[in-house]
Amino acid sequence: MTEISTVGWIGLGNMGAPLATRLVKAGYDLAVWNRTAAKAEPVADAGASVVDSVRGLASRDVVFSMVSTSADLEQVMLDPDTGLLTGDAVPQVVIDCSTVSVESSAAVRAVAEERGVRYFAAPVSGNGKVVAAGKLSVVCSGDKETFELVKPMISALGRSVTYVGEGEAARLVKIFHNLVLAVYTQSLVEILTLGEANGVSRQAIMEFINNSVMGSMFSQYKTPALVNLDFHPTFTPVLLRKDLDLGLAEARRNGVPMPITSMTREIVQSAIGHGFAKDDFATMLLVAAANAGLELSSENADVTDGLDPE
Ligand code: NAP
Repeated sequence: MTEISTVGWIGLGNMGAPLATRLVKAGYDLAVWNRTAAKAEPVADAGASVVDSVRGLASRDVVFSMVSTSADLEQVMLDPDTGLLTGDAVPQVVIDCSTVSVESSAAVRAVAEERGVRYFAAPVSGNGKVVAAGKLSVVCSGDKETFELVKPMISALGRSVTYVGEGEAARLVKIFHNLVLAVYTQSLVEILTLGEANGVSRQAIMEFINNSVMGSMFSQYKTPALVNLDFHPTFTPVLLRKDLDLGLAEARRNGVPMPITSMTREIVQSAIGHGFAKDDFATMLLVAAANAGLELSSENADVTDGLDPE
């Protein structure tokens, strides 16, 4: 295969929908499938066609997937009755963007290779608004020749593509990234709580951090959530707990102590226990405040996430 002409997409959640939309806008002939059919509507409005089963995408040259967990990836790819890789026809290339374990990814790769399908791991950094702003980063691994083939498509998803080697290397790098995300967020919500106890506004603290060497695209785009308590979900604590568990499983397998990460995992669990499972993981702020006996209210401040859509 030297040219990609048709593309499929499985999974149109918070990430999948804006990512698939980018491919349509980049001019690709895209067909999509989502378990909950209604979520395909905005992507169809952007110009994608919609199929009613995973296997409806089997004749596409390339199929992307963006589902929640390792078990979900295995289901959409390997289910004996409905899986993409277990039917009569298979696509030429499968690119999975979900954050999943090395083991699951390797299991899917083994079946893909048996069926003559090139399988490529391409997990991502950034939320749905980051995608719409064109600022998503992709880390990818797999066969180098496949990388050269799919690079233009993956590049259409965001602003940077980092190739980290063969096999499942990208799975590890993505999991490591989310361990930093969790610990950094916990650190931020602790100092914001300390600020509250001292009468210093969250807006002031975040403005200084965002302008300092400690600031990042992440601290900037989380600022409205942290200052104005906007917890509309971009990424849930349930998915973050999944990534902490994936990272800690690797740590245990390799005998690497990760004390701060372990503690953060339990804090994310407590956010879920506090009833924030379906809210944004920035609700870790409310847990930190509650632990200090403080109740927060929105500062109703004019702050920006720095993510203007392209
Ligand atoms: P989400 O909004 O919960 O969407 C999950 C998607 O997976 C939905 O389309 C869902 O279908 C589908 N799905 C889940 N289980 C399935 C199954 N068994 N069979 C078929 N479809 C299934 O999650 P998300 O935030 O988009 O995250 C997707 C992946 O990206 C996760 O691995 C996450 O860790 C990773 N990620 C997320 C972010 C972020 O900021 N949100 C950033 C980087 C990476 P339904 O609509 O039917 O439920």
